Amino acid sequence: MRIRAAVINERGGAFAIEEVDLDAPQPTEVLVRMVASGICQTDLHARDGYFPIPAPAVVGHEGVGVVESVGSGVRSVRPGDRVVMVSPSCGECENCRADHSTYCMKLPGLKMNGVRADGSSTLHRGGQKLGGAFFQQSSLASHALATERNVVKVSADVDLEVLASMPCGVSTGAGAAINVLAARPGLSFAVLGTGAVGLAGLMAAKDAGCAPIVAVDIKPNRLALARELGATHTLDGNDPDLVGELREITAGRGVQAILDTTAVPEMVKRSVDALAMLGVYCLVGSARGGVEASFEMRVLQYGRTIRGCIQGDGRPHAFIPELIARYRAGRFPMDRLVTRYAFADVNRAAADLESGRTIKPVVCIPQEA
Ligand SMILES: [Zn+2]
Ligand SMILES: [Zn+2]
Repeated sequence: MRIRAAVINERGGAFAIEEVDLDAPQPTEVLVRMVASGICQTDLHARDGYFPIPAPAVVGHEGVGVVESVGSGVRSVRPGDRVVMVSPSCGECENCRADHSTYCMKLPGLKMNGVRADGSSTLHRGGQKLGGAFFQQSSLASHALATERNVVKVSADVDLEVLASMPCGVSTGAGAAINVLAARPGLSFAVLGTGAVGLAGLMAAKDAGCAPIVAVDIKPNRLALARELGATHTLDGNDPDLVGELREITAGRGVQAILDTTAVPEMVKRSVDALAMLGVYCLVGSARGGVEASFEMRVLQYGRTIRGCIQGDGRPHAFIPELIARYRAGRFPMDRLVTRYAFADVNRAAADLESGRTIKPVVCIPQEA
């Protein structure tokens, strides 16, 4: 079918909204009429050529929309269902079978190869293949193909444009706080970097009753928002005595849970130095290949843990509805992170994400009659 999509025609170039051709769904696939799509740094890294997907290509991996049709083997959703499109997984590898689908062993290819798992292309233009199937969705378009495994059905009465913040950014931060750092009453919690991922983690920590909650950033306006969303303390990331400040806030014990969304190497050492005994440092920011960090080995003797996580480490089909329930109950105000843009303004949305002007840009796709 003929669709409209934000095409990256050359590495590092702007998005151009063009007509392209989308395949019909295969037996395990779902055709979704897009309502909105979040934009994440990963989309821009793909645009700028840091990932294997070749230009020309269509990216976008935070899609939400309405199911238009389904392949013959699809059972869990049907036309008319509202869905959030999450990270893909194969369902067959050791990690998927162990219920760790965010660590699917086929994930890199499913996200970045520009084709389906079977190597076929979902998108064409003028008879030529286009890079598509980005995270098995390529959601910056009027329509997208997903696999049954990477759509999550949601209730009909939630603002889908708000939900476009969830598939990657919000569920990653909230999942890291809940699933990895075990946010609970009285746990001391620090978040480094207060973009969408960090603020989502902070909101989850607040909802869980963590205290104190420290937000660290170099942008005063972000720290002001962090306070509104539940930070009990804020610190300037450039403060040379950041470790001392964190220890003072925690009465000398150190911080029990640190969520690092910065991927700044120096922050690894400072975080480890600021951890309490048995504390956990979790990195969710993605550093580019080759970047290394160092820390003093002695600090690990006190039972401290250094780890990373992908997509919040959760089970998306349970976790996304759980977060939506918290949002509806007023316990997780993710709408505060969202700025909406018209599809035609997709390049402005991307620029505002890069400049830090916007926390979570969501592109709203025009609905044709
Ligand atoms: Zn797998
Ligand atoms: Zn992302």
